Amino acid sequence: MTGAVLHVDLDAFAANLAAIERRVAGAQTMLVIKDDAYGHGITRIVPTAVGRGIHWFGAFDVRTAIAARGLAGPDARIFSWLTVGDDEIRAALEADIDLGVGDVDFLERIADVSRGMGAVARVHLKIDTGLHRNGIRPEEWRAAVARARTHEQSGVIRVVGVWSHIAEASDAEDDTAREIFDGAVAVARDLGCLLEVRHLAASAASFARSEFRYDLVRVGAFAYGVRSAGGPAENELGIRPVASLTATVTSVGADAVRVALGSLDGLPSILSGRVSVGTPTGHRPLLAVESTQSSVGSWPEALAGDEVTIFGGAAVSATDLGEAIDTVGEEILVRLTKNIARSY
Ligand SMILES: *Cc1c(COP(=O)(O)O)cnc(C)c1O
Repeated sequence: MTGAVLHVDLDAFAANLAAIERRVAGAQTMLVIKDDAYGHGITRIVPTAVGRGIHWFGAFDVRTAIAARGLAGPDARIFSWLTVGDDEIRAALEADIDLGVGDVDFLERIADVSRGMGAVARVHLKIDTGLHRNGIRPEEWRAAVARARTHEQSGVIRVVGVWSHIAEASDAEDDTAREIFDGAVAVARDLGCLLEVRHLAASAASFARSEFRYDLVRVGAFAYGVRSAGGPAENELGIRPVASLTATVTSVGADAVRVALGSLDGLPSILSGRVSVGTPTGHRPLLAVESTQSSVGSWPEALAGDEVTIFGGAAVSATDLGEAIDTVGEEILVRLTKNIARSY
């Protein structure tokens, strides 16, 4: 432990969830909890969200999904969308996880495992709407849905959702993606799927564009108070940062103080000289990030044991740091290692 602390304000998190629910009124909210709830820690984040009425959780990998099941209880819906091997499919079905399916081979393996267990796997079929990351290609969609319907009729799976992921980079591209998505939903219904949920939007589109909300929005960043790089400010969105990172001053020099937090703790060294951080007497430049320590511009009467706020609180936000090095705020958060204590 370095003395650095990531302070997680669960009241701010709860207020962000309320802001999201107001904004997307009518649609349900899936809280995305990948990367240990964007570095905030699923152990406290998931129960807090359950207490605030969140029913859906989006865990990328099966391991996180199973952990979330333990934290959220039997009634929550937990969605995992990483394509995995048969052992993990079995573990997911045992934990009653909903599976996102972006290719037909995965669908067939889920059906096989489910048949072997006497289970009924709930699947959400993913249409590739242009990102080409994962997803069933539009030209293969009808045949894939037909296969899924065959497995539905034999009682081993249930197609409960159609979903996709969009870039949220340009409205025009997102509109094209939405047309493809609507076409895929129409085909699924035409072939007899009784869909429970259609989901397409993440934070940015779910806030900005009502027509992208459908039945369910998958929100990560905004729930943690992380605005989009280059996007609207937190106060315009009605959210606030949940996490703040503090580091302790270990020594004081004429021009700079040293703090016990460095690149080995996950603070990117390329932040050196590019941002300011919060000190007891206002903002000072972050002069250098070394492996286990960093230096910050000194202030009058600085003392060892003082605290510097790297982001959050009245200092800069994680997204401000991200923007200074051409990345997103999430990246700043998820890089922080377990060396940094979490305080709730
Ligand atoms: C990460 C992720 C989200 C959440 O995105 P935010 O911009 O953080 O809200 C939603 N859907 C998928 C598939 C994701 O990978």
